[in-house]
Amino acid sequence: MDAKRSSVASDLPADLLAWYDTHRRDLPWRAKPSETPDPYRVWLSEVMLQQTTVAAVRPRFEAWVARWPTFADLAAAQEADVMAAWAGLGYYARARNLVAAAKAVVADHGGVFPTSEAALRRLPGFGAYTAAAVAAIAFGERAVVVDANVERVVARLFAIETPLPAARPAIRAAADTITPATRAGDFAQATMDLGATICTPRAPRCLLCPVRRHCLAFAQGAPERLPVKAAKRPRPQRHGTIFWLQHGQDVLLVRRPAKGLLGGMRALPTGPWADAPPDLDGAPAAASWRMLDTGVTHGFTHFDLDLGIAAAQADSPSVAGAGEWWPIADLDTAGLPTLFAKAARAAQTEVETEI
Ligand code: SF4
Repeated sequence: MDAKRSSVASDLPADLLAWYDTHRRDLPWRAKPSETPDPYRVWLSEVMLQQTTVAAVRPRFEAWVARWPTFADLAAAQEADVMAAWAGLGYYARARNLVAAAKAVVADHGGVFPTSEAALRRLPGFGAYTAAAVAAIAFGERAVVVDANVERVVARLFAIETPLPAARPAIRAAADTITPATRAGDFAQATMDLGATICTPRAPRCLLCPVRRHCLAFAQGAPERLPVKAAKRPRPQRHGTIFWLQHGQDVLLVRRPAKGLLGGMRALPTGPWADAPPDLDGAPAAASWRMLDTGVTHGFTHFDLDLGIAAAQADSPSVAGAGEWWPIADLDTAGLPTLFAKAARAAQTEVETEI
């Protein structure tokens, strides 16, 4: 690869940065050329954008920084409020880590981020990607930033044929060879923008590409076949039951255990998640439960979940136990994760006329 790349690394950063200077995306977390990046906003956006699209993050980011504009504000927030504000973005450990990292920044660093990639790595929730992205974009440190867009662009520039995920070390090493000593943050964002707007997964628009002359996959033809992805193993199917227990115009909600999937989130009660439908196992109260015709499916990273919904009317509010009765008309404000919001909509539609 090095021999093939000998003519590439030298002018590629300049070509890409020149393109970025006129074509950069205007994003709410991104500093304008005349501004100094705000580390808090850079970090927050990088965490929100992991596993979530720019379109979905935009309004959530704006609402978040309006509510918690600084590390100190976030460090002082109630974790339950933060989790509710995160509802629907998925991968909820990210939200818990945001609060933990904000507390650490306030307690150990006087409310200011440490500036080096190595020091950032010691904060809660900072993996290699987040530390590199914040160090480069917020502080201009030369750090190698590889997200999914960068991964695709680099695999094509260097015509890396090894399938993902085994190709990751080679892609990172290749990205290292083209990361410039200055403007490393702009270079990272330029590569991300190129991947998002031109070097797209299925139909790269190579004729508009500012680094086409450096691209081995373009020279070889059919760059869209890269990066090669290893065949996915089918995900296991699991089953569960969600319980919709109404009392008058309220429904029972619980707080999920802090550890585990969707930990700490407000939710409808569930039974065990099992290899076969568990029906009424784990019902939150004795009642005349009825399995509804409707159900919901949800894909997690490691398995697919197929959930039935059981509904009943509670005779007395005292069955709530550690749960809380929540007005059905205000369920939008409960901060339910997507899975439970879907189940609540499905249950309401069917229960309205039947209970
Ligand atoms: Fe991607 Fe095509 Fe540009 Fe190569 S030439 S980096 S494949 S858009």
